[in-house]
Amino acid sequence: MKIQPTKLELVDANRLRIHWSDGQVRDYAFRELRDACPCATCREKRNAPPPPATMLPVISEADMRPLRITAMKPVGSYAYSIDFSDGHSTGIYTLESLREMGQPVTKE
Ligand SMILES: [Zn+2]
Repeated sequence: MKIQPTKLELVDANRLRIHWSDGQVRDYAFRELRDACPCATCREKRNAPPPPATMLPVISEADMRPLRITAMKPVGSYAYSIDFSDGHSTGIYTLESLREMGQPVTKE
């Protein structure tokens, strides 16, 4: 049987919690999900060579605003698309990749 999310909840201002059909519960920081965005543009950005050392990164206006998940929609039965508050919404997160991310929550 395929393992599926049974419940998605936002536990605080920067964390998503997914309950899985096998009983596992995992917490995901919004930033972790955003940084792992599997869309072609983000993959390209991550694989790009680092900028020359003389180019110091600046904090963009978007970086200063707290990152949030504004929507999450199932894509077929195998993935979720996630809309982020920075306007990015092209990432399709497969269930397999979501199982590999995040931190398991231990039940009390
Ligand atoms: Zn992306």
